[in-house]
Amino acid sequence: MSYKLFLFDLDDTLLDFKESEKLSFSSVMQSLGIQSDMTALFSQYQIENRKLWTEFEKGLITQEYLKVERFRRTLEPLQAAVDPHLVAKRYLEALPESVVLIDGAVEICRELSAAGEVGIVTNGISGVQNQRIAKSALEPYISFICVSEDSGYAKPDVRFFDYAHSLRPHVQKDEMIVIGDRLETDILGAHNFGTDSCWFNPKNDKSMAAVQPKYEVQSLSELRRFIKS
Ligand SMILES: [Mg+2]
Repeated sequence: MSYKLFLFDLDDTLLDFKESEKLSFSSVMQSLGIQSDMTALFSQYQIENRKLWTEFEKGLITQEYLKVERFRRTLEPLQAAVDPHLVAKRYLEALPESVVLIDGAVEICRELSAAGEVGIVTNGISGVQNQRIAKSALEPYISFICVSEDSGYAKPDVRFFDYAHSLRPHVQKDEMIVIGDRLETDILGAHNFGTDSCWFNPKNDKSMAAVQPKYEVQSLSELRRFIKS
């Protein structure tokens, strides 16, 4: 199948978000004078953040609440006199400064953008995601960025994908493919929307999901199979 539109998830598909988070988190905590085991504190943050994102993806909480609450919960046991709103603000400022690419991301975006168009479909915070792409070497190859905060819906909601499709209405659903690392958002969302999907699965995890991707790759370079020779 030759595709005209490649819709990439951003975090942990093209950009190594965990590495960026770790760098940003440590720098903000240190700037606020928080003395703690940074590895343990970051692990706690990841647990709280994941729980809140799951609630957000179910439509139970807002992104504004998530942005602050993840820090309030992480710092609560320390009883530090730090305003979680300030931490949240500094963290969002620090994130775009620490962009880390996944292996092969620039090369594959360059090649696919010559064969068709590359768009980004990401659950995230618009200002942050746009700045991170601008700071990365990906920007010249990206046609548009669709962020959940702009669309008003998050993956896997089919309305999120309707919004992304509205940015390129001339492209048929069978001419596009969604590429992402999460079965429960990227692959399920693509399935609900009615388009093909490719699971980026670098750790070769076993899929327990009811909905299966059409394709699966362990490295981004394997996506070259989608370029018509
Ligand atoms: Mg992802």
